[in-house]
Amino acid sequence: MSGAAVVGSGPNGLAAAVVLARAGVPVDLYEAKDTIGGGTRTEELIEPGSWHDVCSAVHPMALASPFFREFGLAERIEWFVPEISYAHPLDGGQAGLAYRDLARTVASLGVDGAAYRRLMAPLVRNTEAVLDLALNQVWRVPSGIAGPLALGLGTLWQGGPWWNTGFRGATAPALITGVAAHPVGPMPSLASSAAGLVLGHLAHTVGWPIPRGGSASIAKAMLDDFLAHGGRLHTGRRIDDLAELSDASAVLLDTTPKALLQIAGDRLPDRYADALRRFRYNNAACKVDFILSEPVPWQNPEIAATGTAHVAGTRAEMARAEAEVARGVHPAKPYVLLSQPSQFDAGRAPSGRQVLWTYCHVPAGSTTDMTEAVVRQIERFAPGFRDTIVQSKATTAQQLSEYNANYIGGDFGAGTTDLRQLLARPVFGGTPWKTPVRGLYLGSASTTPGPGVHGMGGMHAAHLALSEVFGLQPPSLAP
Ligand SMILES: Cc1cc2nc3c(=O)[nH]c(=O)nc-3n(C[C@H](O)[C@H](O)[C@H](O)COP(=O)(O)OP(=O)(O)OC[C@H]3O[C@@H](n4cnc5c(N)ncnc54)[C@H](O)[C@@H]3O)c2cc1C
Repeated sequence: MSGAAVVGSGPNGLAAAVVLARAGVPVDLYEAKDTIGGGTRTEELIEPGSWHDVCSAVHPMALASPFFREFGLAERIEWFVPEISYAHPLDGGQAGLAYRDLARTVASLGVDGAAYRRLMAPLVRNTEAVLDLALNQVWRVPSGIAGPLALGLGTLWQGGPWWNTGFRGATAPALITGVAAHPVGPMPSLASSAAGLVLGHLAHTVGWPIPRGGSASIAKAMLDDFLAHGGRLHTGRRIDDLAELSDASAVLLDTTPKALLQIAGDRLPDRYADALRRFRYNNAACKVDFILSEPVPWQNPEIAATGTAHVAGTRAEMARAEAEVARGVHPAKPYVLLSQPSQFDAGRAPSGRQVLWTYCHVPAGSTTDMTEAVVRQIERFAPGFRDTIVQSKATTAQQLSEYNANYIGGDFGAGTTDLRQLLARPVFGGTPWKTPVRGLYLGSASTTPGPGVHGMGGMHAAHLALSEVFGLQPPSLAP
């Protein structure tokens, strides 16, 4: 049998490679960098013995995605699942806490507990249907009405200027908005609301887990499986032209539409190429990694028990910061996403040290080091934080784009996730992973269902290749 080539070894490329190899197709996996993993790499970024996630750190989707559930990722590596999925500190030692237990979260939110329950409980009850809708192509008949209804109504409630309706305090709205701000973009919006509700309700189902050893463990589990099923890996091998892969009957790209345009060149019909050229890339992140002498001295001590915190102040402050980024401004009070893995995984830092992972949103292509703004945001809710810093390292948006060709201008979502590009990612249609060139597929985060470590784009692309090129059924992925 002639084989398949997969270009790019991010979680989507690895997912595609695993599916094809398990079906018995000979697969060559090409990765431009010297190591595999794309957005799932863990490195000694600052000093030996301190292991930082270079990109992804917290993985609700890795336990919830149908690909990883069938792959048995929960059993293949060890997970820390904090009792508090994420926290949202506010001034005066207040904090919103998203416990695994929805009832406990509701009780902790006081006057706004009932409104939070009205938003989240239908999603939690219908989580399978919500995930089915969110992680598959959107242009099809859904498997039921309850999930889409819960997601649709919640999205409308939290996606417009009326988003404060039903809430009286600041804590619950901040807790909700902290998640909705993940995709980068003006808020409130329908797209940020939908993304926030999909991610946010997982706080109360699978939780927001951290893998032992960092996100590289996820990539390694997939690579091990791929190699065990006969796959061949070629690192340090950037693909610039389809002609380099002329032996392969199917080519699956874990790249952006921009790279697809370059790699496939004039083989793409004009109309499709024009649609790819219209695909828009988003604003970006500046990453700031820290080594600390002790855990973050949170004013609210409960935050020590969470893996993730949204350090960004009130809902109005987050909306302001995101609006500034949208205007090309670096916010003085940016939206900061923070993870404290060594609170759970002692192997991530030498004894007496902590590693801290943060990033904030910045305009595309930014060369600004945001360390000081990030430190000020954390210090606001953890007085004395500055004194715990042993070393730090900033990676600007521009440097992120040099690190990974898929992060254009530092856009870690590989394309804007607004309403249009949620529905057409990268193009409208029932099979967005398929290109008009026979045997050529796109399966990266630039395709449905978008960014995150879930492997679903790669899996969908591989399923199409199996049926259209090789006449094969999807294989079992069980360990
Ligand atoms: C700072 C940061 C924090 C994040 N945090 C989280 C998080 O906590 N949780 C989460 O779920 N997600 C997170 N993400 C997003 C997540 O990492 C990505 O959505 C995910 O990795 C996308 O997977 P992918 O396989 O589509 O592409 P990528 O992981 O980007 O991998 C693409 C790979 O393809 C390679 N490649 C590209 N072009 C070529 C070519 N021409 N030839 C050969 N190889 C090529 C690249 O080198 C790269 O290795 C974060 C991202 C960043 C940057």
